[in-house]
Amino acid sequence: MALPTQKHTKSRTRKRKPSLALKKTGFTKCPKCQKPILPHRACSFCGTYAGKQILKIKESKFDKKKKKKEEEKEKNKSRT
Ligand SMILES: [Zn+2]
Repeated sequence: MALPTQKHTKSRTRKRKPSLALKKTGFTKCPKCQKPILPHRACSFCGTYAGKQILKIKESKFDKKKKKKEEEKEKNKSRT
């Protein structure tokens, strides 16, 4: 079996390593809801891709709580 004639220094190895690291992916904005999404993927917030509705998005618990709070505020406003 062939053997390397000289040992690679730590420095030489470490200089090479950063080029193997994963690159950060950039985010784009969803044209419909303006939330940050991964490029070339359907928006997970509103379910659209290229202006078409692709996914059915269920109302999240967070959204339901928000709606309830808003409704309660409106009720209180109308009472006073
Ligand atoms: Zn969206």
